[in-house]
Amino acid sequence: MKTTIISIGDELLTGQTLNTNLTYLAKRLYPLGIQVENAAMIRDDKAAIFDALQNTKSDLVIFTGGLGPTQDDLTKESICAYYHLSLVERPEVLERISSYFKRMKREMKPTNKKQAYFPKSAVVLDNHNGTAPGMLVEVEGKTIVLLPGPPSELQPMVETMISHLKNYLDVPLVQRGYRLIGIGESDLEAEMQDFYLQYPKVNIAPYASVGEVVFIFTAKDEALLKPALRAFKKRFDRYIVGPHDESLESVVVHTLMDLKKVISLVESCSGGMLASRIVNVPDASKVFKESYVLYDNHSKIKHLGINHHIIEKFGAVSEQCVYELAYQLAQRTAADITVSISGIAGPSGGSEEKPVGTVYFGLHTEGKTQTDYKIFSGDRQMVRQKATSYALYLVLKALMHDEN
Ligand code: ATP
Ligand code: MG
Repeated sequence: MKTTIISIGDELLTGQTLNTNLTYLAKRLYPLGIQVENAAMIRDDKAAIFDALQNTKSDLVIFTGGLGPTQDDLTKESICAYYHLSLVERPEVLERISSYFKRMKREMKPTNKKQAYFPKSAVVLDNHNGTAPGMLVEVEGKTIVLLPGPPSELQPMVETMISHLKNYLDVPLVQRGYRLIGIGESDLEAEMQDFYLQYPKVNIAPYASVGEVVFIFTAKDEALLKPALRAFKKRFDRYIVGPHDESLESVVVHTLMDLKKVISLVESCSGGMLASRIVNVPDASKVFKESYVLYDNHSKIKHLGINHHIIEKFGAVSEQCVYELAYQLAQRTAADITVSISGIAGPSGGSEEKPVGTVYFGLHTEGKTQTDYKIFSGDRQMVRQKATSYALYLVLKALMHDEN
């Protein structure tokens, strides 16, 4: 079905905001067989919205942004004016908006009331993360969808939108996939070529993020999906860390919970990022004890008693240092598993022997300490992000080993 995405917002055209809603939507729709053939960015302006509607030939038109309570948010009003749809108050929506304000301990302004007005025939898409509900309406042979601008509000609503679109459209229904780590997207792609030919009725789409790759498989039914998933799992098992819709840190936290194990960390170049990722998972307190951020050499000596000879002889970024960090931490905590990270995030500090991106990992469990190292590409943030993903992967590998 022909699809257009129209992103509304003055801030998109002044360059203040990057239109990430477009890429998110296009990516999310593509595996469902809905290809976006057109996209536009326009101002918060009634005439611009009328123009966009007049010019689109698509069957599905998705608008993002401008659903806020203020005067300059006029997406819904303009679209309804264009199609001569009158807006009526939906008491149940008003109730949901006012309970949102109560929950957030904020006062609801009279202007928020307009967010509870919708055309009679519209399906209202609830907003659990904000005040502006979205909507889906069939009009003049088109499906028009309105989504809010803030990505944190739009993204959960996209799932609701998709479940509604499934009622209208002939789109594939089953979607599953895997999250992989330890192999790059291009290496995976090279090993995937025969897959695409072997399973032509399954849409297989990779989504690469920093240090991780997600593969989503979509097909019309389970019978088509299963053989492809099984074959993929068999081939890439050693890189698979969990299902596509569960984050790596969530898989690690839940595996620790299942095994009733507790983890402690000591971080140098990651500066607490690993702890932060773990703490992002609800109930992390059940499995996470502490993380030391020992950035400076002296702090490594002072807080964990690392022998200064080790740092002088081998450097803080070394196998010997991460070994000691993980080992010494294990002696001082009752955690079942300790992890250390020390590396060169760059842009300076690299050498021929240890270039920028070199990161060492230590892991102590069951009375044994192991080390590993990797050289990651990318800037400072990317190296740190990749290092934390790899550390989580090492934890998972160690836990799986315990499990078996
Ligand atoms: P509200 O005004 O209540 O926040 P809204 O639906 O009117 O909701 P906008 O005012 O259009 O949303 O946008 C709010 C914020 O959302 C913007 O400041 C911007 O940071 C972000 N945003 C808007 N559109 C996009 C977009 N296309 N991509 C990424 N971020 C966006
Ligand atoms: Mg706006």
